[in-house]
Amino acid sequence: MARLEVVKGDITTFVADAIVNAANEQLQHGGGVALAISKAAGPELQAFCHNLPTVATGDAVVTPGFNLPAKFVVHAVGPIWQGGTNGEPGLLFKAYYRAAQVAVEAGAKTIAFPSISTGIYGYPIEDAAEMAVAALLEALADFLMIEKITIVTFSDEDFLVFSEATEGLFD
Ligand code: ADP
Repeated sequence: MARLEVVKGDITTFVADAIVNAANEQLQHGGGVALAISKAAGPELQAFCHNLPTVATGDAVVTPGFNLPAKFVVHAVGPIWQGGTNGEPGLLFKAYYRAAQVAVEAGAKTIAFPSISTGIYGYPIEDAAEMAVAALLEALADFLMIEKITIVTFSDEDFLVFSEATEGLFD
């Protein structure tokens, strides 16, 4: 069974030990997938995040999942796309890898990721998908307790791009 899969769906209803949030450094869940996760988790999540220090771009922090099916939310901060020459690829790689690491440290064996940075943060989806898959393969190699990582894409187009990026990996 492949340890990395791509599905299309809504990450807020996804059943996994941990779901990853595409967060900002302030952990203010004001739009996109962050707002959807915040609404589904209930007001306790944003309140909990108010008491946490800011998170650097490329890093991640774990909180409880509150009313979500997931036990944990891992808030990962991807880079804002600025043309690609400001270290965005390395920071995106790090955000995915650190999210997996932080989830493992919390005890998660199944982890769901959205497409980090490709919404409001403007990262081109094809490049982002390539970097995401590279980072997640490295995390799966390093953290053998992870049973499954699922990339939960939100649109048909994103599903196709991520499916192509993972094609043939496990044949
Ligand atoms: P960022 O600021 O990191 O770009 P966004 O939340 O704007 O984050 O977008 C990240 C991705 O999450 C986008 O591809 C967006 O379509 C997707 N997304 C939005 N809502 C959901 C959801 N409920 N489940 C999964 N993905 C979602």
